[in-house]
Amino acid sequence: MKIESHPAHVAAATTPLNWKQGFAEDFAGFPVAYRRVEAEALHEPRLLCWSDEAAACIGLNNSDVERHAHDFESCFAQGQVEYLGQSLAPIASAYAGHQFGVWAGQLGDGRAMLLGDLPSQASALDWGFDALDSIELSDRIEVQLKGSGQTPYSRMGDGRAVLRSSIREFLGSEAMIGLGIPSTRALCLYASDDPVFRETTETAAIVTRLAPSFLRFGHIEFFAHFHHHDALNHLLRKLAQKHYPAVLSACHEASGLSDDDFYKLALFKSIASRSGDLIARWQSVGFCHGVMNTDNMSLMGLTIDYGPFGFLDQYDEDHVCNHSDHQGRYSYNNQAAVGAWNCKALALAFRTVLSEEAAPYLAEGLQAYRSAYETRWQERFAAKFGLMPAGLKTQHKSDDPQTAQSDEQDLDDDAGPSIHHFLEQSMEMLQRCKPDFTLFFRRLSKTSLQAPQECSEIRDMVLDLASFDAWWDAYRDIAQRQMSRLRWDPGQRQAMMLAVNPKYILRNHLAELAIRRARGDHGQPDYDEIERLLHVLRKPYDEQPEFESYAAEPPQWAKGLSVSCSS
Ligand code: AMP
Ligand code: MG
Repeated sequence: MKIESHPAHVAAATTPLNWKQGFAEDFAGFPVAYRRVEAEALHEPRLLCWSDEAAACIGLNNSDVERHAHDFESCFAQGQVEYLGQSLAPIASAYAGHQFGVWAGQLGDGRAMLLGDLPSQASALDWGFDALDSIELSDRIEVQLKGSGQTPYSRMGDGRAVLRSSIREFLGSEAMIGLGIPSTRALCLYASDDPVFRETTETAAIVTRLAPSFLRFGHIEFFAHFHHHDALNHLLRKLAQKHYPAVLSACHEASGLSDDDFYKLALFKSIASRSGDLIARWQSVGFCHGVMNTDNMSLMGLTIDYGPFGFLDQYDEDHVCNHSDHQGRYSYNNQAAVGAWNCKALALAFRTVLSEEAAPYLAEGLQAYRSAYETRWQERFAAKFGLMPAGLKTQHKSDDPQTAQSDEQDLDDDAGPSIHHFLEQSMEMLQRCKPDFTLFFRRLSKTSLQAPQECSEIRDMVLDLASFDAWWDAYRDIAQRQMSRLRWDPGQRQAMMLAVNPKYILRNHLAELAIRRARGDHGQPDYDEIERLLHVLRKPYDEQPEFESYAAEPPQWAKGLSVSCSS
């Protein structure tokens, strides 16, 4: 929504927000889980951006923003929340984690605080899941401030977030939802002139984030490592009841395991599988998280904690988006393996509240991670190339069930394995040719397979022409064979490809330009660019010809942009 400046004292209409503090209620018996905290208000805060779509998830519309501007400022820039007329202190939760592969001990919300939760109007799609994903969402949404000041878990930090990283988080998380990738969301962003000291003096901002739950792998690791087993058992049951209810009702009589063991194993498997699915989706749009520590892994399978993240411009499987990641632990191509490593760390934490007999079954959860990753990876990348992976049913032109059946047979018997192999070869070609990842697939989606010279637009982007030409011949062959087998016309192939090959992603240089303008680096601060980017990234698979320049490769000045952990 376009933000108009508003008078400081808008008539105080009763706020439409029906706050609760479910986390405190859930953990009332476990004081080790959290601390009450007070937000450090921003001085003279300015509302920089507001996401209408995220607001709709908590039942707010545009007129609410105008009518309740003053109340919203107290909530989201000052951390003041009322529940049944009583002021409700926010909460910082304790967690732990492995950072860069090393046990980091106790951590916690060092600069984030949970204001409480609100009734949900969101569907699975609003969190970036597919309509087909079987996601159970609780009927409340958690609301968290990031950058709202120190907490008992701040360690040496100042509890603040700078404007630069807050704009990146705001745009990054909303862009992921546009792409159809599960994520926490950003409701709004307030900024002020309060100084914050990083490598240079910057200014403070607070992003309000929404999620069905902000629980991380690190929450489970915290209770497990410090032997808070009652609290851990309690957490797992709450998590299952609220977000994974199917694991409590699954029939397990034949397993020989106790009810307790059985549901925990099923819960672990579901979390691992969601995580594998998520990371495969990241790969498919070239998203690099940058800091995949276990405290930054969501138990809901959401992308969480946007720091030095980035999207691939030029394809390079070894790309490291976090300038501080000297070993390349979190490079693009390592993300799947790191996800598996993180699931192992989570398994070890689960292990502490499982019986001896049940523990070996944790391996099934790790397998579930791998198979969810592989299935989603193949599905997405096959679709990106306009191909159909084995075992997937297709939109068949013929209504005749007999023909349909024989075609599926064909796919499984013949094209399936070869497509898997072909996808691997295609990734090798991309690595040698290093085209712009997003533009390559977008242009491929529009390239006819009929005429050999049609590929010139993509051929112009590659470094290794011989590799590309050999690949192109093989590609045309396999794609044409499959199209005739499936009786697809070029329009069907193109529609499938355009639905998975975005035209617009949040390239670093686009975020950087919005940041520079918001900071007023070259004149008066202006926030229109954030608004425009939010608008474009809402519909990344649409053409939006008026925003063509946002689809372009980075300009020369932006090639050396680096993003570090400092935020
Ligand atoms: P991150 O790498 O941003 O996920 O942060 C890792 C841990 O450090 C978390 O516990 C954060 O809450 C904490 N943290 C990061 N930056 C700050 C800061 N400026 N002040 C206090 N705590 C911070
Ligand atoms: Mg974090």
